[in-house]
Amino acid sequence: MQADHGGDEFEDREALPWEDSADVVEEHPGLTAAEPLPVPQEALTMEELRERIASIWGFDDLRPLQADAMQALLEGRDCLVVLPTGGGKSLCYQAPALALPGFVLVVSPLIALMQDQHDALVANGVAVGMLTSAMDPEDRAETTARLHRRELDILFCAPERLAMGGFIGELRSLGLSAIAVDEAHCISHWGHDFRPDYRRLGDLRRFGERVPMIALTATATPRVQADIEAELGLEDPVRLVGDFDRPNLTYRMIPRAELKRQVLHVVEKHEGQGGIVYAMRRKDTESLAADLSKAGVRAAAYHAGLNPKKRTKVQKDFLAERLDVVVATIAFGMGIDRPDVRFVIHASLPKGIEQYAQETGRAGRDGLPAECVMFYSGSDFHGWKSLMERGAEEAHEAGVQTAREELDNAIGRLSELWNFATSANCRHRFLVEYFGGGFEAADGGCGACDVCLGEFDSVEDSLTIAQMILSCVVHCRQNFGGGHVTDVLRGARTKRILDLGHGNFSTFGLLKEHSKTDLRSFIDQLVAKGHLLVSPGQYPVLGLSGTGIEVMKAERTVEFIRSAASKPAARSSRSSSRSSAGSTRTKKPAPILDDPSLDSDLVEELRGLRRRLATERGVPPYVLFNDRTLVDLAERLPKTPAELLEVTGIGEKKAADLGEMLLELIAGAGG
Ligand code: ADP
Ligand code: ZN
Repeated sequence: MQADHGGDEFEDREALPWEDSADVVEEHPGLTAAEPLPVPQEALTMEELRERIASIWGFDDLRPLQADAMQALLEGRDCLVVLPTGGGKSLCYQAPALALPGFVLVVSPLIALMQDQHDALVANGVAVGMLTSAMDPEDRAETTARLHRRELDILFCAPERLAMGGFIGELRSLGLSAIAVDEAHCISHWGHDFRPDYRRLGDLRRFGERVPMIALTATATPRVQADIEAELGLEDPVRLVGDFDRPNLTYRMIPRAELKRQVLHVVEKHEGQGGIVYAMRRKDTESLAADLSKAGVRAAAYHAGLNPKKRTKVQKDFLAERLDVVVATIAFGMGIDRPDVRFVIHASLPKGIEQYAQETGRAGRDGLPAECVMFYSGSDFHGWKSLMERGAEEAHEAGVQTAREELDNAIGRLSELWNFATSANCRHRFLVEYFGGGFEAADGGCGACDVCLGEFDSVEDSLTIAQMILSCVVHCRQNFGGGHVTDVLRGARTKRILDLGHGNFSTFGLLKEHSKTDLRSFIDQLVAKGHLLVSPGQYPVLGLSGTGIEVMKAERTVEFIRSAASKPAARSSRSSSRSSAGSTRTKKPAPILDDPSLDSDLVEELRGLRRRLATERGVPPYVLFNDRTLVDLAERLPKTPAELLEVTGIGEKKAADLGEMLLELIAGAGG
């Protein structure tokens, strides 16, 4: 498959999602000079704020670091919040907006992201407005009028709007009390989503007086964090870096064999649930989506080559639960806030650990169990590598001085990912440590990765097998790739082998009792351990390293592992035993979707009701309430409005708006 890594087909990096919704730069709709500020109301205390959070959002507890971030804003300090996807970043600035005098300005890179947050806030009865060029002029004028009437607690804005002369000064005169920069890594060149528009946010600090600023991101590398602080000009910020482990995600890394069957196997385990399949090439997304559709799955492809209308439709259908599975290139990502994504499959290797963490981070944002499975193959590694090499060569020819250095970095990141995938170390531990955190697990391991769940078998006679593979590489004069070496070892009488006379090697057919997938995996493991080397270029060939020669001489030992991917998946998620910094109350264990004590018919009926209500209101279902609320409803079976308010995620406004229908449905189900 290495022959076909044709340019843009292969790397879908144009990441166009925000082009659809790009906020074109235009004059802001003339905010006129404001009347003098009313006497500012006193900020609420943290205790009072907690009460309001319970009554508005229906959350009785705050997540780790949320309280610290809120406290920082209430004290007028700058703050940097680094929390994983689903960690609850939005509440960090949304709640203080109610406690502070005036309003909080929220800057976000994507209109879709803002729209969802906006709608969810409206559903909770929060006074919120938006200013984007995608809106009708009348709606914009309406928001402006509400700003003037000092009605708003939160205002959403695209970054380019802030760069317009005088805009921020006018917002100040209208009671701007803090600025929240969401997806703040977009300001950094080192981040993976750099947006030139975000650079201009650095100017905010230069306008007049200082307004406290909170920057939020899920990108955890120290370099990006430092860059965010420097570019935004944060002053002595409170730094809140969360726990990057996602205990509700179960990670699995499986050598790719029959991709279609493997993908289908995972998807079928999650029948009727939302999931994303990432593939490297556009045509792969299309063929996989077709395969899934044929198998009766509500699936569609998504990549940057589709026309914008089609892309928007797929995205909307997925959010509205009209589609269960999207098979996508990396162009599908930002703005996908559906919290009940139950699985993320990588049909090919992502480019690095950060991408992997980000893409899998889209699973289980609601905190309920979700599964992340990667099907990897050495050919992806070489595909990426030769693509990177070609890119660097072109950049070098175009006079880019740092091309070589960047290539080394990129290949370094790819190799880290490769080692991650092919090694047998706890996935949770690896990821947490990669992002600079500490990890402690019980003796039995994390309980939520293929390694700790014992889904790997050790392979008997590993050393002998390794020696046979290495000898075969030598017989092939270190001039052939992994596919050919595998064929020789398995004794395949292919035309090529016969023509070349490789059927006469003493290693021919020596490992025929092993499957092709296993042999490829063993070769991959030898590469990962550095015993085999792979030449650069489009047709990579295998060669021996110094340590490979030691293995041949039995001066060094090797232990292969084999993924027992056919074992049934463990269902439960791990309940975290660690205490999390910043959390003041004990965490409730995550409710489990397939908890047998739950009335699953009721859950489905509630889901149906949520979908109908969402359609009526023209918002995605999760904007009304997430799956955690769904499960909590089915567990508590509230009978009265007061009992309904005990349910997580149901505040006063939702109880008033949706309560009657929910109670009726639950009463009907009980009777
Ligand atoms: P992030 O922006 O960090 O990815 P979100 O702000 O979208 O995460 O929050 C993820 C989910 O967690 C949302 O469904 C949100 O309603 C929920 N959530 C946030 N804070 C709390 C809390 N304190 N208690 C319960 N649920 C919460
Ligand atoms: Zn583990």
